[in-house]
Amino acid sequence: MKDFVLGVESTAHTFSASVVSSDGEILSNSKSVYKSPEGSGIHPFEASQSHLASAARVLADALHNSGIPQDEIRAVAYAMGPGLGPCLRVGAVAARTLALSLGVPLVPVNHAIGHIELGCLLTGAKDPIVLLVSGGHTMIISFSGGKWRILGESLDLTLGQLLDQFGRHHGFASPCGAAIEDAALKSVNYLKLPYSVKGNDVSFSGLLTASKALLDGGETFYDVAYSIQETAFAMVTEVTERALAFTSKKEVIIVGGVAANRRLGAMMTAMAKRHSSKLYMTPLEYSGDCGAQIAWTGWLAIERGIEIPIEDSKVRQSWRLDTVEIPWRS
Ligand code: AMP
Ligand code: MG
Repeated sequence: MKDFVLGVESTAHTFSASVVSSDGEILSNSKSVYKSPEGSGIHPFEASQSHLASAARVLADALHNSGIPQDEIRAVAYAMGPGLGPCLRVGAVAARTLALSLGVPLVPVNHAIGHIELGCLLTGAKDPIVLLVSGGHTMIISFSGGKWRILGESLDLTLGQLLDQFGRHHGFASPCGAAIEDAALKSVNYLKLPYSVKGNDVSFSGLLTASKALLDGGETFYDVAYSIQETAFAMVTEVTERALAFTSKKEVIIVGGVAANRRLGAMMTAMAKRHSSKLYMTPLEYSGDCGAQIAWTGWLAIERGIEIPIEDSKVRQSWRLDTVEIPWRS
């Protein structure tokens, strides 16, 4: 007999809800995405108001589209963090309310671990080196000793922030990654930019400043978009390669919104091939933030008895994934 979990995601720009089954079928994945004004980033309060306005509809759609009767939902999972406080609180309130009204357990999920576990479910990756690249994260991760361990990370901006802040400087509205990818396809003229790898960590702030300066100095958006991608993607590919060589793992997976980028995928594929490893990419539809990452990880957790009393169900704006015990992996 199958179980069903409803998951609620609301860490940043996306409010999403999804129903998944215990055998990993995604039965629904409804979402509403807050759009920040042109030239500016996410305004946390305004994003939370947008989530508030769409929460009831998104939850109702997720339940309706799944075709699962409410009384068959075994648990409600929510993204407890990390993320923007006002946005997290909308998701937490919605999930608490639903769990109480359905009379089922509430399950806290770490958003970053949600990206990883959903990526593994959808690609079949078992024990990969993970490159998590999104608006909120840039990390190279590997599972060891009961936890996902961070082998390298960005010391300042995330890869998503780098692309979004560069795009906004040009006047685009966030998120800008897809528009930069399109622009980069129109150039092969590499302009020299700072390449900053420190140990197994990366730093993007100098790259952002230099890229903005090139634009301001009259270089074309196409050439700078191409050059920023080549530089930043080479940096994350280098540190992922080192992690792969060090651990001798045979799989690599890219998860998070930037996983949608084909140039990053091509660089990582060539790198994995050199190490006789297989590269997996999260399918486009599920690479960005979504309820399915929370629902699926919620199922893995509730199956191991992990739940949280409603009165303790806070949100955690900062919650590093390497502090979370993972009893469902060995
Ligand atoms: P997430 O936080 O996981 O929802 O990912 C959002 C981030 O992914 C934003 O910074 C987007 O700009 C970025 N993104 C989305 N599509 C692409 C793309 N095709 N290329 C690069 N970055 C992308
Ligand atoms: Mg994310």
